[in-house]
Amino acid sequence: MTKPDLRSQTQEEIRRQFQLWQEPAYRVTQLLQWLYARRAAHWGEMTNLPKSLRQRLTETYTLSWPELALRQGARDTTQKFLWRLADGALIESVLIPASPSLYGESSDRHTLCVSTQVGCAYGCKFCASGLDGWKRHLGAEEIINQVLAVERTENGRGRWINNLVIMGMGEPLANYDNLLKALRILNAPWGGQMGARKITVSTSGLAPQIRRLADEPQQFRLAVSLHGATDETRARLMPINKKYPLKELAAACAYYQQKKGRMITLEYILIAGVNDGLDQAPPLAKLALGLRAKVNLIPYNQVEGLPWVRPEEPAQEAFLAALERCKVRATLRREKGGEIDAACGQLRLKTERQGANVA
Ligand code: SAH
Ligand code: SF4
Repeated sequence: MTKPDLRSQTQEEIRRQFQLWQEPAYRVTQLLQWLYARRAAHWGEMTNLPKSLRQRLTETYTLSWPELALRQGARDTTQKFLWRLADGALIESVLIPASPSLYGESSDRHTLCVSTQVGCAYGCKFCASGLDGWKRHLGAEEIINQVLAVERTENGRGRWINNLVIMGMGEPLANYDNLLKALRILNAPWGGQMGARKITVSTSGLAPQIRRLADEPQQFRLAVSLHGATDETRARLMPINKKYPLKELAAACAYYQQKKGRMITLEYILIAGVNDGLDQAPPLAKLALGLRAKVNLIPYNQVEGLPWVRPEEPAQEAFLAALERCKVRATLRREKGGEIDAACGQLRLKTERQGANVA
């Protein structure tokens, strides 16, 4: 049997194991401190645990830690982290510093975007993450470790990442059990101590799993990648729309909204000549108003080898204005520096395809 990773275990699971070993309860607290507050990368760091206990732990569990393969971006802008996992797989996390214009000058907000799978099976036509298909799910610890490893490289004290978006490579709700375990651990007072309201899960629209997430006790935020406001336009971009057409997706979103009483975000990438026509604005407005959702317009980040392009700024502004005329709460991402801001999945794709020697 393969050993579980220690960071995929809940406090309760560790407590039960320690009871079997007849270890005193305070050892559980010490261990959790090493795992989450001190972000230990190796067993050897856990200096206040007796050698005999450390020995037992190494026999029973793994303690994986991602290796930083590449880092891109300056300290005050968006930074990308490319991680190499134990089996050599590459995944990305993106750190987005507070934007004073959005959150106020005194904001101390650090947002991290994490991956949930290696590759993606959903094959959205515009996305780099799915271009080479799906390789595997990430374990709960591999999701959690992205937060801890970024904090460790940034030398943050206490909980430094205070906003988490599950929008990196992969479809989070297709890896439901590992995702939820990771989020519960990140949310727990004994673990990551991160508020559920500070965690946003983005999905391409897996309707049954949206309902399942709605039934969870935690108040995670939900973002839905829409990218088309009619079945025809959406299906051109997202194969999943055939399985869960807009009507079914909207019903699942309404269920989420009702259960949680929180505002959902509809993400809408603007792609020139594909979904930026003003004919999409009224159906999009209708959907958003019906769900009391806000719309986040994102100018497309071009992906090498794909034909899609970002619309010119006037077209982006016109689309935003059309939504606002319908009284929809909408924002348009206007920041520059598209190369680094490029969506998750692109850095990995480039690295894998070039067979680049990243160290
Ligand atoms: N699989 C999930 C989460 C990962 S993708 C989902 O699809 O929602 C996170 C977001 O990035 C999605 O809204 C996705 O559509 C968007 N995205 C993917 N490629 C992009 C690109 N090249 N430019 C802009 N946004 C992109
Ligand atoms: Fe997968 Fe999301 Fe990319 Fe679609 S947009 S291929 S679901 S990661």
